[in-house]
Amino acid sequence: MSLPSMNLSANAVDFIDEGHLHGLLSGEKPSAVRIREIISKSLNKEALSVEETAVLVRTDDPALHEEIFAAARQLKETVYGNRIVLFAPLYIGNDCINDCTYCAFKRSNFRAIRRTLTPEEVRLQVTALQDHGHKRLILVFGEHSRYDADFIAETVRNVYSVRSGHGEIRRVNINAAPLDVEGYRKVKDAGIGTYQIFMETYHHATYAAMHPGNTRKGNYLYRLDGLSRAFEAGCDDVGLGVLFGLYDWRFEVLAMVRHALYLQERFNVGPHTLSFPRLRPASGVKFDEKFFTTDAEFKRIIAILRLAVPYTGLILTAREKPELRRELMSFGVSQIDAGSRIELGGYTEAGDAQVMEREQFSLADIRSLDDVMCQLMSDGYVPSFCTSCYRSGRTGEHFMEFSIPGFIKRFCTPNALLTLQEYLMDYASPETRRVGEKLISEELERMEDGDMKQRTIKQLEEIKQRHVRDIYF
Ligand code: SF4
Repeated sequence: MSLPSMNLSANAVDFIDEGHLHGLLSGEKPSAVRIREIISKSLNKEALSVEETAVLVRTDDPALHEEIFAAARQLKETVYGNRIVLFAPLYIGNDCINDCTYCAFKRSNFRAIRRTLTPEEVRLQVTALQDHGHKRLILVFGEHSRYDADFIAETVRNVYSVRSGHGEIRRVNINAAPLDVEGYRKVKDAGIGTYQIFMETYHHATYAAMHPGNTRKGNYLYRLDGLSRAFEAGCDDVGLGVLFGLYDWRFEVLAMVRHALYLQERFNVGPHTLSFPRLRPASGVKFDEKFFTTDAEFKRIIAILRLAVPYTGLILTAREKPELRRELMSFGVSQIDAGSRIELGGYTEAGDAQVMEREQFSLADIRSLDDVMCQLMSDGYVPSFCTSCYRSGRTGEHFMEFSIPGFIKRFCTPNALLTLQEYLMDYASPETRRVGEKLISEELERMEDGDMKQRTIKQLEEIKQRHVRDIYF
């Protein structure tokens, strides 16, 4: 058990130029003509520059906001269709050597109930998740020497080895502290999907205020460089994130886009996902609400990010209330968690009420996976547990080759329908099954006639009649 070295990647630089970003946020309000030029570039599936993103951020004209929302919906439909990918978080351990002011797991919060799941407890949690129908997980760790690369890799292998009935976890993502290049190689070899590191805030002074300098997380450049080291180690997919509410959302949106473009320029592949969690009540934490974002601003954040990075997945978590999540889905969200419990051991031990001392923050949506699935389908979305790109090697740079020309949509919907059919056969409540079977037949109606449609129909029958599982294109 050891903490990774603090070595940086070759040519690591602090690419966040605050003067430039703040400069882009001041000055004259952009014209409607300029806004529409930028929207049409996005609708042409071209990524936006930081400067162009700033133009969308700076308009305060409600009518133009509506045009941005409409464009985000259209782009989501074009690139991702109506599918929503589902996953669940699994907290493995909340020991932490850092003291982040906004987190219940900070070392100075003595009210937090500390726990690290044993390998057997991990298996019990994964079995419970599989028995609900989950196929994709994100494992979450505090920063501590006991959660080193070997421990994370061993935990990933343990998760993949669990089988319960037709259940299996087919993709394991990680949200943990930055590693060194050698550490990333170890977790990559264990078969991880995306490695997520949230910068929390890109604003240097705010970062220093939230992350004491005498803690590992207090090192801004080491964290900013974290995912560059992951790419250097050969990891395929990485995920960025900002904790909205710590600093001005306008600045953070530009900085996150800057980070995405920096990775694209340096490694010829951008982030696989962006996350935009908002501060939530947490045990032992007092917040300064100065930079809290309103729901209206939060909608703009998601729509603008959708337009800025057309090929990057957008993750909306259960930090948000069910009704708001329902509304935000259409603005470009491509992934959500569902049936989530974030207490350590929560999938077998948590009751209806959340226990704040066992959580990093409180959730606003603890509906069951089945309830979320049923609502998504009633709203016309196809819930998907698809992992075929990851398991067919369509990852990182290679994913881009597929996604940019629009091929991906041809794979996404058929694969989503296959994973949905599995869910309906093995886990759905009668009502969710009824809604799901109706949706599948409607989606088949919508599908272009031809080879892919025939193959999809044949595979759906294989799942229904011959109980075959885990089929994908
Ligand atoms: S945010 Fe992460 S690193 Fe910071 S105290 Fe919480 S668990 Fe530790």
